[in-house]
Amino acid sequence: VTSQNSFSPSSEILWDIAIAAPFHHLLTYSAPKEFPIQRGSVVKVPLRNSYRYGVCLQKTPHPELLTKPSEDSPEPSSSKVQIKAILDLAFNGLIVSEEYLKWAFWMSEYYVYPLGLVLESLFPPLNRVQSRPRKKIGSKENPSYQKWPLNPEQDEIFNQIRAHHYFGVHLIDGVTGSGKTEIYLELFEFFLREGGQGLFMLPEISLTPQMLNRFSSRFPEEVAILHSQLTPAQRISQWQKVTTGSAKVLIGARSCLFCPIPSLKLIIIDEEHDSSFKQDSKLRYHGKNAAIMLGKIKNIPVVLGSATPSLESWVLAQGSHYHYYSLKKKAKAHTGPRIEIIDLKKKESLRPSHLPSWMSHQLYKEMTAVLEKKDQVALFLNRRGTASTVFCDSCGFCHHCPNCDVTLTLHHKKMLLCHYCGYQESLQKHCPSCKVGVSKPYGLGTEQIEADLLLLFPHARLARIDRDEITHLSQLEDVITSIEKREIDILIGTQMIAKGLDFPGLRLVGFVLADIGLHTPDFRAQEKSCQLLFQMAGRSGRHASRAEDAGQVLIQTYRPSNTVFEKVVTQDYSSFLEEEKLRRSELSYPPFGRIALFILESKKQKDLEERAFHLKKLVSFSSKKYIETFKLQILGPAPSPIYKMNNTFRYQLIIKADSKVPLSKICHWCLQQISKVKSRVTIYVDIDPQHLI
Ligand code: ADP
Ligand code: ZN
Repeated sequence: VTSQNSFSPSSEILWDIAIAAPFHHLLTYSAPKEFPIQRGSVVKVPLRNSYRYGVCLQKTPHPELLTKPSEDSPEPSSSKVQIKAILDLAFNGLIVSEEYLKWAFWMSEYYVYPLGLVLESLFPPLNRVQSRPRKKIGSKENPSYQKWPLNPEQDEIFNQIRAHHYFGVHLIDGVTGSGKTEIYLELFEFFLREGGQGLFMLPEISLTPQMLNRFSSRFPEEVAILHSQLTPAQRISQWQKVTTGSAKVLIGARSCLFCPIPSLKLIIIDEEHDSSFKQDSKLRYHGKNAAIMLGKIKNIPVVLGSATPSLESWVLAQGSHYHYYSLKKKAKAHTGPRIEIIDLKKKESLRPSHLPSWMSHQLYKEMTAVLEKKDQVALFLNRRGTASTVFCDSCGFCHHCPNCDVTLTLHHKKMLLCHYCGYQESLQKHCPSCKVGVSKPYGLGTEQIEADLLLLFPHARLARIDRDEITHLSQLEDVITSIEKREIDILIGTQMIAKGLDFPGLRLVGFVLADIGLHTPDFRAQEKSCQLLFQMAGRSGRHASRAEDAGQVLIQTYRPSNTVFEKVVTQDYSSFLEEEKLRRSELSYPPFGRIALFILESKKQKDLEERAFHLKKLVSFSSKKYIETFKLQILGPAPSPIYKMNNTFRYQLIIKADSKVPLSKICHWCLQQISKVKSRVTIYVDIDPQHLI
């Protein structure tokens, strides 16, 4: 097709096209009548002095068209606009199917993100940013995994889900090792036999060779894998295997949702509680919700599985929105770990003086014993938000916001600030609760622990797993292999080590300071901490079948009375959820309410503040009519918890309301309005944010 500027109605057709560019409206282009374009066709079009890809959405009748927005004048204008011609079809005539179009519309509206940019993610990954070639994960020779006949409990769940050929969400609440994965495999096999394809989504960190091999030995030559660290060539070949139908099961992290699967019949999401399904940049979508919407549009079952289901899913399952199944028994004989809480406030009389302050005498003794037996130890420290959380060294008191029920964080060494509503108070020397203790910021990290352990256990072989140390899956794989080969005695890590790892030699799991996660300024802090405690506790002595081999879990804390610890000791996750449900519903936090988070960024603090207050005005105006009916609240603006990042300052504004409030609409309108006043402040919106920090 040749580019031309004058439109001739007799020989040409006009198309409204969603362009892969950062604006919310469609643009109009022309194409000769005989040109093979239909709704969903991906085309290449000129834009300014360059070109972009776009998706043809609908034909437009020509006369009115001249008053429509166009590339050169985003606002409707009556002046004559020149219609540019579509340059070519793209990606060998790729057509986005009606179902994926529908899904992209939903994503764009719900997450308030330009449609063209959502659609772009559905194009084959050509010419994407080059990443360094990596060792292929799961490339080792496939050990064959035994296929077990399902036990009666597994079989019951399998049969119930299998009977649903239409949309429905099924939550499998099953303890670690209860045989969930075995059910997944059986379900995929069933739907594959019917000619379908399946999607298996899990947190990137759980894409271990162990998991991948289990799938590829069950479905030889029929598995494709997508994750962030493939080379471009690997990515393209995996993508094509799926879109052409030669691969039957696609395994991957959240982004594999964007690989269009022509005969998709089943979606399974493992570790459904995991917050890594949420993307925190650009299109801020939640992989789980997006997958459920895709399942709804395709009218197929969606299965969620976890040993520690999210409160959100659990409440929906209780309210009969989801089907609920529970597996409370391990599939193989197993003795659970002994779990003990260590009160760090207690002064230990016989404590050796060379122990670092974070280590209790008891933990030291147990570690020594395990290491002497040549078994393995894992120490866990949730570092997020550490340096800024303030504890009383005598009673463990931690400052909370009177309005928001989240912890206050320390700024400039003397100011305690709420990052939800902006409430602040100055830090007093003495603890307001016990009046004796001194409030101290806590700033311990995994690196410090590693250094201390090197001195304490000079002969032990150490490995550290955290985001500083492990930046690629292949590195994680190497560490896992050394642990399996017993080349590592002590593993130190953050939440990265809690996910799905399965080491036979691991006898002792120690939580260095379990309080940290509990006090991050986030309403999900309790839930996330509890999930982590359960997941980590499940790592210890996983293969123990005799009582004397049972694993051990030691939890160090300043606040042993916190209800979360009691639940872990009694291994009663459901009763934690019952309590958490009450707390959340009292405060109208999700799933009883909804949240939208605006994030504003600028290099100029003054501009930023002005813009934040302007935005607040718009939000107040547009949501006025919802304040009563939907109990809508506007919190902030307040500086973001990480106020300065890369020399850019950040503010945030939160809308909190009943679950039925049209949140996306309000946010979209505000963004549109505020964009009319030029400014160098960037604004993002995050619908249903996972992190408010
Ligand atoms: P989960 O996914 O719930 O953690 P898995 O499916 O990985 O559980 O099962 C845990 C272990 O039990 C695995 O080693 C698996 O091979 C074994 N297993 C699962 N189901 C059965 C069964 N029906 N009979 C015997 N072993 C089983
Ligand atoms: Zn507050």
